[in-house]
Amino acid sequence: MKAGQVLGVLALGSAAGLLMQRHHVVRQRLEKRAVAGRTKRFDLKRELPPWLSGAVVAGSFATFLWYENKWPLRLRTQNAARRDLRNLAIAALAAITVRMAEKPLTDALTDRVHRRRWGLLKLAPLPAWIEVPAAVVLMDYSMYLWHVLTHRVPLLWRFHRVHHADLDLDMSTATRFHFGEMLLSVPWRAMQILTIGVSRLPLSIWQNATVAAILFHHSNSRLPQGVERVLSRVFLTPRMHGIHHSVVDAERDSNWATIFSFPDYLHGTRRFDIPQDRITIGVPSLREEEQLTIGRLLKMPFSSQEGTREEREGGSCHRQASR
Ligand SMILES: [Zn+2]
Repeated sequence: MKAGQVLGVLALGSAAGLLMQRHHVVRQRLEKRAVAGRTKRFDLKRELPPWLSGAVVAGSFATFLWYENKWPLRLRTQNAARRDLRNLAIAALAAITVRMAEKPLTDALTDRVHRRRWGLLKLAPLPAWIEVPAAVVLMDYSMYLWHVLTHRVPLLWRFHRVHHADLDLDMSTATRFHFGEMLLSVPWRAMQILTIGVSRLPLSIWQNATVAAILFHHSNSRLPQGVERVLSRVFLTPRMHGIHHSVVDAERDSNWATIFSFPDYLHGTRRFDIPQDRITIGVPSLREEEQLTIGRLLKMPFSSQEGTREEREGGSCHRQASR
C-alpha cells in the first residue's frame, strides 16, 4: 500500500474523533436559525423515492447490458449462460446480506448524524447544494481507500478475490461479490457516514450513483477510444477497470476508483496504457473453470489460499517486456 493511501486511511479514522468535539456548537446555531424561521428547503432526512432508485438501477442495467452485447470490448473466454447463473447466485446472497445487515444500520446512523450534526460536513451550516455533492464525492473517495484495503489486508483479499477470480469481465461480474465482503464492509460504511457526516438523502444518491458506476465500468462496453479517453478524465471507465482485473500485478494495482477517477490521479494509480486484447482477466492461481463453481466460490475465503500472498504483494505475474 502506498504511503498516500495509508495516510488517507489514517486521516479518515482520526478525523472521526476530532469532529465530535465541534458538532454541538453548529447544532445550537442551527436550532436558533430554525426558531427564527429560516429552515432548509431540501429535506436531507429522506432518501430518494423507491421508484427513482429502481429506475436508476434497472435503467443502467438494461442500458449497459444492451450496449455490451451490441458492441463488446473484450472477447469472452467462458460459456456465458453458466457464468451468468453462477454470478447471479453469488449476487443474490450479497443483496440479501446488504438488505439485512447494512440497511438497518445505515438508516439509524444517517438519522442520528443528521439530528446530532456529527461529522465533517455538519461542522458548518452548508446549503444542501454544497453538502449533497460534497458527501457524494467524499463517500466515493473513501470507497477508493476501502478498495485498496480489500486488496492489501489478507482477510479482506480472501473475500474480494472471489470477485477478481472471474475469468471474463462484464455486467455479471459487477454483481458478483461474496456476501462476506458485504458483511465486512458494514463497519467501514458506518465509519464513512459518521466521519463525513452523511444524511439519508446524500447517502441514497451516492448508493444509486455507485451502483450505476459499478455496472458501467464492469460492463464489456466498447466506447469509441477518444470518447472514453475524455470520459476517463472524470469517471472510471470500462477500459480502465479492465486493467484493474488483469492477472498482471502491476496492472491490478491501478484504477481502484468507483465513480470518479480523481482518487487515482491523486494517488498516482491511474492507468490507460494497456490494450484490452492484451489483458488476461482473473487471478493467476485460479485459471480453471472447475475451480470456480458456486460452491467453491462461496467456500473460497475459508479454504487454503495458495498464491494469495503473491497476489496481494505483487510478484506472482508480470507482463513480458514487449509493451
Ligand atoms: Zn479490486
